[in-house]
Amino acid sequence: MQSDIVTRCAPSPTGYLHAGHAYAAGIAFLRARQAGGRFLLRIEDIDITRCRPEFAAAILEDFAWLGLSWEQPVRRQSQHFAEYAAALDSLRQRGLLYPCFCTRKQIQAEIAAAGHAPHGFEGAVYPGTCRHLGATERAERIAAGEAYALRLDIAAACRHTGNWPLRWHDEEAGAQSVMPELLAQGFGDVVLARKEIPASYHLCVCHDDALQGITLVTRGNDLFGATHLHRLLQALFDWPAPAYAHHRLLLTDSGERLAKRRNAPALRDLRAAGITPAGIWQQVGLDPGGFGF
Ligand code: GLU
Repeated sequence: MQSDIVTRCAPSPTGYLHAGHAYAAGIAFLRARQAGGRFLLRIEDIDITRCRPEFAAAILEDFAWLGLSWEQPVRRQSQHFAEYAAALDSLRQRGLLYPCFCTRKQIQAEIAAAGHAPHGFEGAVYPGTCRHLGATERAERIAAGEAYALRLDIAAACRHTGNWPLRWHDEEAGAQSVMPELLAQGFGDVVLARKEIPASYHLCVCHDDALQGITLVTRGNDLFGATHLHRLLQALFDWPAPAYAHHRLLLTDSGERLAKRRNAPALRDLRAAGITPAGIWQQVGLDPGGFGF
């Protein structure tokens, strides 16, 4: 039995961190610290088209400046592609993945033709076009060098796992059950790998939370819906379900979500402007004392 709480912060090094990241990391750190548990930092750098080593280095520097400390070694997802490939392979062998050759444009056109989502793709799920291709056509198109993504057949995946209802617990929202219809409507057949990004966030985050024995996932409530999908993935691999605490997102005075490119100064710029770590913690509403200030 796991007696100690293990939390993690799992930023993606796609830019410099802002106060929203400090808030999320601070919550994960305090939850572990206050319970005498362990706090891990994981660098989620699988998206090799957007992640940069200098941003990863800046994460370590900014977090150390804020008074956070974490266990070594830091897991960097980009060093573990073989593990994610093995997980993908297991899904493929069970017939739960299929290659999708559609371009973004084709998907948008299909969705528009079906009368949904006039503004395009966001908010409407993939209509499943390539799910119905035969084995021969798939093999021929792959052999011909056509680019493809691997999608999870959500309906098949739901049928494959026997333990319905799948449940999880959120500290704020209480007991939750995964609803297959909502997964199908909210996510559809999600992409788990594509040519330039060999494994997706959804797969890697569940893989690593299980591997690292995370018992409590703290993260922003923008990912609340994703937890339904994550529970399904956990069930497919027999990975344990951690507890979740989805927290509010920090907003600007006008109610916008903080985003580096739009409205949120980077922590390092705040530091250069003379703001102290204690000042950052106060600004995000966490007690600086929890971080040694
Ligand atoms: N890499 C993800 C992010 O930065 C982690 C989200 C999570 O905590 O699951 O949004």
